[in-house]
Amino acid sequence: MKRKLISRFVKYAKINTKSQHDVNECPSTSVQFDLANEVANELKELGINDLEVDKNCYLIGKLRSNIPSSHKAYGKTPVIGFLAHLDTAPDLTGENVKPQIIENYDGGDIVIGFDEAKKEKILIGLSENPELAKCLGHTIITTDGNTLLGADDKAGIAAIVTALEQITNDKNFLHGDIYFCFNPDEEVGRGTVCFPREKFPVNFAYTIDGGSEGELNKETFNADNAKVTVYGKDIHPGSAKDIMVNAVLVASYILDKLPREMSPDKTSNHEGFLHPTEITGSTGQATIRMILRDFTEEGLAEKNKILEEIIGRAKQTFPGCSIDLEINKSYRNMLKKLDENPYPLKRLEAAASQVGVSYRWLPIRGGTDGAELTRMGIPTPNIFTGGKNFHGKTEWLSIDVLMKTTEIIKNLVRV
Ligand SMILES: [Zn+2]
Repeated sequence: MKRKLISRFVKYAKINTKSQHDVNECPSTSVQFDLANEVANELKELGINDLEVDKNCYLIGKLRSNIPSSHKAYGKTPVIGFLAHLDTAPDLTGENVKPQIIENYDGGDIVIGFDEAKKEKILIGLSENPELAKCLGHTIITTDGNTLLGADDKAGIAAIVTALEQITNDKNFLHGDIYFCFNPDEEVGRGTVCFPREKFPVNFAYTIDGGSEGELNKETFNADNAKVTVYGKDIHPGSAKDIMVNAVLVASYILDKLPREMSPDKTSNHEGFLHPTEITGSTGQATIRMILRDFTEEGLAEKNKILEEIIGRAKQTFPGCSIDLEINKSYRNMLKKLDENPYPLKRLEAAASQVGVSYRWLPIRGGTDGAELTRMGIPTPNIFTGGKNFHGKTEWLSIDVLMKTTEIIKNLVRV
């Protein structure tokens, strides 16, 4: 299994699948089809023909149940789905990824390259990567220091394909109907926008997307996006006295009044934040874009209120300006719906325990396709892959942990 996982992962990592923000089409970049078609061909070679890559770059397919009608489990197994995303983050180049394979990791800092500009080695250091201490003897895959690796989420794809291969190769492995979906655009928050729900008739599903050994997720932020538009009054500065209202100053006043302790760099675990992500503008008009995040609806409402109050104070301080606040709902925490329907969680805990993994449920301080799928009625918790430092040059993956992920997938569907 290990060799298969390595060769698959390395092959997928070399295919550029970078997605792109602010594109209203599915997929956001056509290069994602390259990987979808590659995986589709591979699955067909394994004899899994019940699949298609649709026009929006969703590779969806099915492995039919092989439970004989005489078997007591016949017709009684849940229909389970697995998902992983094809794209890599727009933050960093996805071209010319050159995965470096370190066999039998010896426990030290890993040197992955040399930064010519800074004249220093690029390191995956033990001090910043305490999980490495648990990976002694593992096969670790890193970048060459120039790109991201794309373990997020090509590790997930490699695990699902390898599990499907092992399941189809073992005639004694009995399973119910299994669906799989490899989708585009998770990294730009559009992973489920064109999701063909009717082609994925499962009782529940699992995303295989990130995290250290044992990390399972059933909880995400509640997320709103805010756009604050300040309308000032522009006039020649030479004759501006008592007339000009400078939108740039109003916008900076609003940013200055944001509570410092509620920013991403001051919060962790279950704490939410208000985070300005972009500011543009001039004297006449300025725009601030922000993201508001909290694990509870009440906490998110509180963040909205804080922003409204600051805007109220800005209007008082700068008479003559007008300020529009537009709040758009992004995604919602899936915890409540998953806790109402705990069977997929219990099944996952059992599957992880069978592999000897001591699991823990951790909140995702971000989004996941599972949040939207859960809202659509498909309970979808997330399973670790053994990858770390996503979206950056120091991204790395333990293949030994990914082997456990692959075993968990098999355990989830085994009768
Ligand atoms: Zn991901």
